[in-house]
Amino acid sequence: MKLKYFLPALLLIAGCGRDHSRITPDLSYELSYFREGRIHVKLVYKPIEKGSTLFTYGEPRFGGQSDIVKGFTGLKAQEGVRVNFDDFSRELTLFCRDTLPVTVDYDIVDTRMKEHGLRGELFRPIIMNDYLYCHGINLFLNPVLRDPKQKVTQSVVWKKLPPFRLFQQFDPENHGSRPSVGKPEDFMYKLITGADGMITEKVKAAGSENYLVLRLVRNSDFNRKALSGYFKSYYEAICGFWKEESPQPYFLILQPFLSIDHNIGGMGLGNGFAGKYSYNTDTILSPERIFTISHEIGHHWIGGLIESGVNDQWFAEGFNDYFTWYTLLSAGMMTPSQFERSFNNVLVSHYSSKVKELPNDSIWPNYWKMGDYNKLPYRRGSIFAFYLDNQIRRVSNGEKNLHDLMLSLKEFRQKMDPGYQLSISDFASQASAFVPADSIKTELARYITSGVPVRFSTGMLTDAFSVSWKDSIPVLQIRDNEKFESFFRK
Ligand SMILES: [Zn+2]
Repeated sequence: MKLKYFLPALLLIAGCGRDHSRITPDLSYELSYFREGRIHVKLVYKPIEKGSTLFTYGEPRFGGQSDIVKGFTGLKAQEGVRVNFDDFSRELTLFCRDTLPVTVDYDIVDTRMKEHGLRGELFRPIIMNDYLYCHGINLFLNPVLRDPKQKVTQSVVWKKLPPFRLFQQFDPENHGSRPSVGKPEDFMYKLITGADGMITEKVKAAGSENYLVLRLVRNSDFNRKALSGYFKSYYEAICGFWKEESPQPYFLILQPFLSIDHNIGGMGLGNGFAGKYSYNTDTILSPERIFTISHEIGHHWIGGLIESGVNDQWFAEGFNDYFTWYTLLSAGMMTPSQFERSFNNVLVSHYSSKVKELPNDSIWPNYWKMGDYNKLPYRRGSIFAFYLDNQIRRVSNGEKNLHDLMLSLKEFRQKMDPGYQLSISDFASQASAFVPADSIKTELARYITSGVPVRFSTGMLTDAFSVSWKDSIPVLQIRDNEKFESFFRK
């Protein structure tokens, strides 16, 4: 099972880690680690606005943790300063009479319980003797300003470090010994983690220095080498696909679950992925995990830089799955016959599913029922991507393909404002440069919006493939291996 959780658009931390030592930040955090499952937070706040200031703590939509506020305790403000916290709205109001800095103290505690399950281990703070895992959203307060354009600075420093080395995604070269400075949003959806035996390895790939942050339990040397080899090859292939000349550093953070038996799960963090796996095998990189991690790296572009709305997961998930195959093939990490098998497995799951014809706008309201509902956008989208790739190749006599359309979508998106979500009509208008405008509109309405499964036939595809039907399920065959390989060869 792959997990996709919705996060606000993530901005990158251009300012973080630079020397801002001459500026007094508006929010200065000092953190102290206590072994009994607690981080003490001292916040010195330089009033940004006159009168009261509003902050929020936590975000229940982040992994569906509706009781996340339970871990926020021990709030007190310095004498003479009034502070109010509303458990229900998670709003903290600070009443300041003047503009002198005020001090607020609070604790973040580890409140994980069995019923929080897998998502508890991914989205709640884990504060243990030998392990810390905490997202900024669960540690810092988020200022809600009357003037959203107001520039706010934040610094974070550790007064009492944990007894192991830290990795701070917002400032990866700083293990907590000096302040990190940036804007409050630079810290929110970033991970702070550390553990006995945790390894941080820098991997040069596609011209950038990237970070692998690993907590290895078994076969450390083998897994470390395998993961850095995998990452280097895959990241170079995917940056090549997107024609990235100087990609941002990527963070691949992988750790074992503590008490959950689940193959792999995690979340995209903009230019990073924080994943957890159960370590019941000696090798971390099983083919299924390679696919999931590669899919997550793919979200940096599809669903990330080319963002789409909750009703367009056929694109963010399905097209991302399709190009995960494509990139694995071009990186030599998947063989044509493995692709054929994987794609046929998707066809079997989709065409035998009871919900295969669910209209597109009914998917999201049913999404958290999980099972087939949750998988529908991946399957429908990747099957449609395969169909459309074939159409573009046929119409252009092999001159163009879906990869070209993806590059033009990226270019289109780069011209729009931050946070812009690609719509189905944007997709149609970009695609109409490759296939007739009327036909793409009709096909999107039929195969995506209404959810009619594609009635594949050999004549609809390029001559690299043939299709037969068995028990109402299409079966794909690669009939010209050389031609197929030319599709994704660099
Ligand atoms: Zn995904």
